[in-house]
Amino acid sequence: MRVEIIETGLIFEMGMAPVTAVRGVVIHHTGAEDVDLSAAEIHQMHIGNGWAGIGYHKVFRKDGTVERGRPEEYQGAHCPGANRFTLGYHICGCFSGQLPNEAQLQALVASLADDCEKYGINPLEWFPDGHDLISGHCDWLATECPGDMLYSILPQIRQQVAEAVQQGTI
Ligand SMILES: [Zn+2]
Repeated sequence: MRVEIIETGLIFEMGMAPVTAVRGVVIHHTGAEDVDLSAAEIHQMHIGNGWAGIGYHKVFRKDGTVERGRPEEYQGAHCPGANRFTLGYHICGCFSGQLPNEAQLQALVASLADDCEKYGINPLEWFPDGHDLISGHCDWLATECPGDMLYSILPQIRQQVAEAVQQGTI
């Protein structure tokens, strides 16, 4: 593992559907405001939406730490149409007009490399319907998430992940 995931011990409200197979990752940002939210804060907001709890599996804080959201054995609630077979990553901040900071980008690439190895995902491949295995929220539905700037560098991120996986654990 390249990235330590900070366990958060969040309590979920009701039964969640188990994941059958993780085959990809969908990347999100906070949007609206360029804020640094904890997994616990997002958890409370999503419970307020009437959900079981935080809909993302990992939260990337602005200092580069990665917090556990929903356990990976349960389907997320982050991307209708892709929840059954993807992990949801939440990158804290608003990336319309600016990029994530260096600490977040490093954590993102390293974490993607970990999950690609764990689940046998080729970061340069795509689903039969044409969606990239590592995609942005806006690939699946009309939203500006994960922000035009973060979205614009997904091709480079996929390439960096492929190189990290090829080199093995650093
Ligand atoms: Zn999103």
